[in-house]
Amino acid sequence: MAPAAVPVVTTSELTISAMKHDLNKTTKSQLDASKLTYTFNKSPNTVPALNDPIRLEQNSTTDHMLTVKWTEKGGWEAPQLRPYGPLNLMPTASCIHYATQAFEGMKAYRGVDGKLRLFRPELNSRRMNLSSTRIALPSFPPEELEELIKAFVAVDCAKWLPDPNTFIYLRPAIIASGAALGVQKPREATLFIIAVLFPPMDSPTGLRLLASKEDMGTRAWPNGHGWSKVGANYGPTLQAQGEARERGFDQILWLLGSEGRVTEAGASNFFIVWKNKHSGRLQLVTAPLGDKIILDGVTRRSVLELARARLAHNATEACTEIQHLERVEIVEENFTIHDLVEAQQEGRLVEAFACGTAFFVAPIAFIQYVDQGLEIPMTAKTEDGGKAGPYAAAIKTWLKEIMYGRVQHPWGVVIKETGVN
Ligand SMILES: *Cc1c(COP(=O)(O)O)cnc(C)c1O
Repeated sequence: MAPAAVPVVTTSELTISAMKHDLNKTTKSQLDASKLTYTFNKSPNTVPALNDPIRLEQNSTTDHMLTVKWTEKGGWEAPQLRPYGPLNLMPTASCIHYATQAFEGMKAYRGVDGKLRLFRPELNSRRMNLSSTRIALPSFPPEELEELIKAFVAVDCAKWLPDPNTFIYLRPAIIASGAALGVQKPREATLFIIAVLFPPMDSPTGLRLLASKEDMGTRAWPNGHGWSKVGANYGPTLQAQGEARERGFDQILWLLGSEGRVTEAGASNFFIVWKNKHSGRLQLVTAPLGDKIILDGVTRRSVLELARARLAHNATEACTEIQHLERVEIVEENFTIHDLVEAQQEGRLVEAFACGTAFFVAPIAFIQYVDQGLEIPMTAKTEDGGKAGPYAAAIKTWLKEIMYGRVQHPWGVVIKETGVN
């Protein structure tokens, strides 16, 4: 008799059942933004000037942080907005030992119209819920996290983000903060939101990437956790990244497997525009999400959606600025470093760019793959006086218009500011 088939449970099913399991325990209190309490900082800091080199350190924060504690027994406690300061953790805390940590990266923008905006905050809130359950931390209704993020920036950004056309970086995170050292599902967690002063990071001269080799390790693999924003994805890449920096590169272009599949550039999604070798058609290409290797970037998604609306052959939105741009096919498909090298050598590669919240839309100028150096064309001028490929330049302009309120768009969510009272 044939053995009974063993049912295959995929990662997403495990994650979704974990979420349902947590959400169904209704006796515990759910995350509730309306319970937020405020304790304002009595010794607030001064805001460093925009050109103050302290911003390069990425360790200057605002006056406050928002924290929420969760326990397996009681569920979510009331969220607290309180003075920024150290977290109280025992050396046995799970997050210090087992990477029980998930996070988000987003920005608040001060528009040219003086208004404060978030960019598609519901996507970050949803993603953090997925990442949290991937790492055995609790789930929550994403709308509640979104409300907490809004409440936090409403207090701190009036003072800390005064200048039009600037941004501040927001870091929501969740950690297993309980004091039990056992290797087990955490029974306590702390969710927090902080804001950090960043320098602008989109390179006007173009990024130089070093393609990973096998001895640098693998960033993510099929059915692993590359698709979730968990701390465990990042620590193991930093040695390679540090060495790349020492050799004059900005980021690693992470390849996967012996075929050299192109996945992501550092912690950014990676796009190319090329003429397809077989069809001869012009395509905007990025790796697909299906096999759970790639992070579902908010910027990636926005680039794809804008491109489908404005650059595709069946585009529905009119865009006067891009009348000089040829329409493209928009493709989420795997390609290898060898395909990329070949396209560059045959003159079919139009451009490459990385995109993510931190690096925004960053044109790629150069890729080093083993002993081959690939110069990537950057034939267009950007509005900030830099160079980029023509598609990256257009997409960057469109996204900036939304983020900084030069056009009103549903993705740019205006926040009503309260300050500290
Ligand atoms: C955060 C991140 C991105 C970019 O995502 P955004 O939502 O666009 O900021 C891309 N890849 C990785 C691995 C990341 O961690």
